[in-house]
Amino acid sequence: MFENILRIYGLNPDETNVQQFGDGLINHTWKVETKKENYILQKVNTEVFKKPVDIDENLTMLRNYLSKANPEYLFISPVSASNGQSLIHTDAGYYRLFPFVDGSTSVNALTSKDEAYEAAKQFGKFSKILAGFKAEELNITIPNFHNLILRYEQFTEACRNSSSERLEKATECINFINEHQDIVNTYREIISNKNIPLRVIHHDTKINNVLFDGQNKGLCVIDLDTVMPGYFISDVGDMMRTYLCPATEEETDFSKIHIRKEFFKAIYDGYMEEMATVLTDDEKQYFNYAGKFIIYMQAIRFLADYLQNDVYYGAKYEDHNFNRAKNQIVLLQAYLKLEKELMN
Ligand code: ATP
Ligand code: MG
Ligand code: MG
Repeated sequence: MFENILRIYGLNPDETNVQQFGDGLINHTWKVETKKENYILQKVNTEVFKKPVDIDENLTMLRNYLSKANPEYLFISPVSASNGQSLIHTDAGYYRLFPFVDGSTSVNALTSKDEAYEAAKQFGKFSKILAGFKAEELNITIPNFHNLILRYEQFTEACRNSSSERLEKATECINFINEHQDIVNTYREIISNKNIPLRVIHHDTKINNVLFDGQNKGLCVIDLDTVMPGYFISDVGDMMRTYLCPATEEETDFSKIHIRKEFFKAIYDGYMEEMATVLTDDEKQYFNYAGKFIIYMQAIRFLADYLQNDVYYGAKYEDHNFNRAKNQIVLLQAYLKLEKELMN
């Protein structure tokens, strides 16, 4: 199946070993081993990314910029095939080939605050070294991805169109979301504040999008499909949502949901070690707003999907999205309780 693709890259299929690799959820990923080098081959998920060419253009723009501005930075961009292209379109779909970072490991579940620190440092470093790049030039690979105003509108629309059964069941959650609309209002303030710039933001900061070396030090960030113009609260908030709590959004025993303050400090220290000199004073004031912003947005996305009969996220069991929404609301409540202390 891969023969054709390998040949396009000038690789001999008889001297190449291809194996599925990693725990990515969006794309198909394989490790390609040859006598000389190793690679990551990826088939782009075009259900999620409607225009793979836009991603490819973004990576080319960033690579060209960094090759001059910061050639030492380990920027993982696709290699060119024999025809010079870094994105291959075949009957089977869109493919790209990255250099495999030898000696790297990835972590699927955080085991220590040091990992949180290292990851936050890598995501901070990424935005820092690209601070001189005009973020607005990037293609938007997922429109309105973190647009909380739109997400809130979609949620109110879902409430209007929901079956009365699901609406009734979700009443308490809906009330909680509506009582915390100040979180949407703060987002409005942020996007209209001239001292809060659009930056080059990763937008998918889960822990397995960072590569670590053998000593558990962060090497670089990977999975750059969602790199788009955005606000720093997106990356910081996404780290808070996924690193602060020992339980994931799938947990239904809500007694396991709590905030690990030392992980907050690790995210703050790691991110600010890189970004303290880059962020404006206005941005810094919203550091702990970031957690509320992303957790709230995820809660309303799960709840909206439950109210719309699980059309977007799907459901592995009845009430799956309802439970995920409740999980995120419990996480938000835990976060709000500690909010004032977290920055001390
Ligand atoms: P997600 O579900 O996070 O969107 P994805 O499907 O987009 O993931 P990637 O994160 O790009 O896929 O890759 C999946 C895994 O493959 C990574 O978590 C990492 O373990 C491994 N990987 C990806 N690129 C490289 C690389 N250049 N070198 C080494 N390992 C890599
Ligand atoms: Mg990934
Ligand atoms: Mg991805």
